[in-house]
Amino acid sequence: MSQQIEIAPALPIPAFLVGEVQSKLAYVDENIAAARLSAQGEVITLTLRRPVEGPDRQALEAKVQRVVQAMVAGAFKPKVQVLEDYSDRPVPYRGDPNAGLLERGEMFQEAAGIFTLGPLVSRLIAFFEAQFVALADSFGAAPYRFPTLIPARFLERVHYFRAFPHSLTFVTHLREDLDVIDDFAQHAACGEDGLNAPPESFAPIQTLLSPAVCYHLYFSLADRPLPGGSLAATAVGNCFRYESLNLASLERMWNFTMREVIFVGPKDFVLQNRETGRQRMRDFFEQIGLAYHVESANDPFFIGEFKKQAAFQSAFQLKFEIRARLPFKDSTLAVGSYNYHQDFFGRALNITLPDGSPVHTGCIAFGLERMAYAFLAQYGLETAAWPEAVRKAVA
Ligand code: AMP
Ligand code: ZN
Repeated sequence: MSQQIEIAPALPIPAFLVGEVQSKLAYVDENIAAARLSAQGEVITLTLRRPVEGPDRQALEAKVQRVVQAMVAGAFKPKVQVLEDYSDRPVPYRGDPNAGLLERGEMFQEAAGIFTLGPLVSRLIAFFEAQFVALADSFGAAPYRFPTLIPARFLERVHYFRAFPHSLTFVTHLREDLDVIDDFAQHAACGEDGLNAPPESFAPIQTLLSPAVCYHLYFSLADRPLPGGSLAATAVGNCFRYESLNLASLERMWNFTMREVIFVGPKDFVLQNRETGRQRMRDFFEQIGLAYHVESANDPFFIGEFKKQAAFQSAFQLKFEIRARLPFKDSTLAVGSYNYHQDFFGRALNITLPDGSPVHTGCIAFGLERMAYAFLAQYGLETAAWPEAVRKAVA
């Protein structure tokens, strides 16, 4: 027995914040099964799992208004800067690739946001990966391998809990206690609400699943001078961001893979390499006929930090996204980003240059599943229609 309720936001939500606010509503209350904001931002429609009235409903509405207030009050539209625009590049396909992917066993959903991928998509990803590695090689970037787990105290040191609490994924294990372990072995079962083991069976959380790749490199360099004064590195890794109701096909996954090319050193070194990387990628995207543009962006900070940090990121051109067209839904999807963190990690982790000042860092990050998904949305699943460079490599 679900219920639909409409809420008028206490402040008018400007069009440029509609998507951002809508995606945050997923985290407001466990009773919310779906949240939609009208295009003009004047009506919030919530679908609730079970009906609420009276004080419970008031409490829920108050939480919704808290998000609106925190994100909208004092926010101003950041100037969007477009660095490249090839969104008009003609592409042959307009269909929705999802049905075909499922039918052919190229995509199998284990749970919301968790997917296995079949041979064609895997080969396509391997092809993109090879290009990203070639980009890394063009900078002489050293290869690294990083774990999927990340210690909580590392993330704390770079203030991750404050900026992105809603998307964290925690890791635990059974406490080292024979009674607990025996009890679990005998009684553990999956119910509607998940695994039924008592919460006190689990050890305190010391570890999370990594939300990004480059953090591991910075942590390995912490509390000492940077050897050689500058470093280019590359690695691929599993990344985890819990996106709640926003999890949708390969567009928004809980568990996805990222290839990063990472720069650590003086400011000019980082900024110049980021720019050179962008120019090199432009040639590659032309070769594979991708319709996309590159524009300034900001990270999806949670309430409280959102306005301040988003404005800061825009003003200092810290993030540019590669947004590929999804013709079937007339929208775009970020398949990668060019990031500059200034000396944030250098300061937080005490990584220094020869003159004693903190290092600057930046990274070029590609989402591998999204890259494949966007390509398939523009070219379809029939390889005959693909650009030759891709067809040959994947055949
Ligand atoms: P970011 O560090 O947020 O710029 O992420 C780098 C790239 O990772 C993005 O451009 C996406 O291609 C990919 N990515 C980020 N979040 C997700 C997600 N939830 N699902 C799939 N890909 C993602
Ligand atoms: Zn990074």
